[in-house]
Amino acid sequence: MLVNTLPKLRPAADFSHGEIRGGRRRSNGGVDLKTSEFGSELSSESVFPAIVQRTLSSAVRCAGIGLHSGEAIAMAIRPAEPGAGIVLRRTDITNGGAHIPLNWRHIVDCRLATTVGNDFGFTVSTVEHLMAALAGCQIDNAIVEVDGPELPIMDGSAGPFVAMIEQAGTRTQDAPRRLIRIDKRVVVGDHEKSLSLTPAGAFSLSFEIDFDSSSLARQKLAIHMGDGAFKSDIAGARTFGFAHEVDHLRSLGLALGGSLDNAIVIDGDRVLNEEGLRFQDEFVRHKILDCIGDLYLAGAPIIGHVHGARSGHGLNHALLRALFDDDEAWSYVVPGTEHDPRPARPGLDADVIRP
Ligand SMILES: [Zn+2]
Repeated sequence: MLVNTLPKLRPAADFSHGEIRGGRRRSNGGVDLKTSEFGSELSSESVFPAIVQRTLSSAVRCAGIGLHSGEAIAMAIRPAEPGAGIVLRRTDITNGGAHIPLNWRHIVDCRLATTVGNDFGFTVSTVEHLMAALAGCQIDNAIVEVDGPELPIMDGSAGPFVAMIEQAGTRTQDAPRRLIRIDKRVVVGDHEKSLSLTPAGAFSLSFEIDFDSSSLARQKLAIHMGDGAFKSDIAGARTFGFAHEVDHLRSLGLALGGSLDNAIVIDGDRVLNEEGLRFQDEFVRHKILDCIGDLYLAGAPIIGHVHGARSGHGLNHALLRALFDDDEAWSYVVPGTEHDPRPARPGLDADVIRP
């Protein structure tokens, strides 16, 4: 196996200014993100995504393996009716209890990946990369069928799921899209690692990572929904892990399907993958991808700015809990209407299973 040395990372942009500025106003959807180093021109104008709900035009299927189980897994994404939300269905469960809404109230574990479960004790893990693809493609309603307790890891990124959604095509639905507007700053974590949501005119994220590894060093990136870069700049960023952790994970029966085909593996200052990195700062891009996927478990797109410092799945979910624990921190809004009263708490819509 060839061993590549990591390219020298770009000097980090000045991260001291939390404001994101400039950019262009966009009124509709599509796969839409713009990336920038922190401190450069990004939008603080209102950039609302599609104002009506969206689903797939047809069903689409894939086959892969589970990162942790190492087992073969078949998955399909099917269209769903307006208001259905994103719902998992375990096709290997035939006696009831096969449905699990993909929203934050159903998160049962967030240590290595995001796992959702239902009252019958059935779970599905590693949902965050698919959720990021659904968020990036602005899919509101879909049934995700899977024949085991884990979604396929594919290549470790959201790229294959975006390709599936594009293959199926998407269509708008005759129902308004509801957004979650952040009205007050919410922050979780401590001085070591933290994650916050602050009011902003669009969905934007700024992240910094700082691993105890010379190959990762510090990486920083700021992005916002708006200029069509989710697919090209974020979706392809792969999950990553450290060679010294692999034996420990496998002794716990985890990462049995993990390989250089579905993860970046770092050993000291080297990337072990023969093909090297897809982006010079692929690691922070993947952290952003994970956060986009986890926050889509809010049950609707968020309009606000996310700032993460050395955060991960645990803080992503803690942030959602803190947000919805504070009634003054958020409001539902429907673009094009004066104001939307709160008909229900987030996630409740997705609890209604309409097969
Ligand atoms: Zn991930």
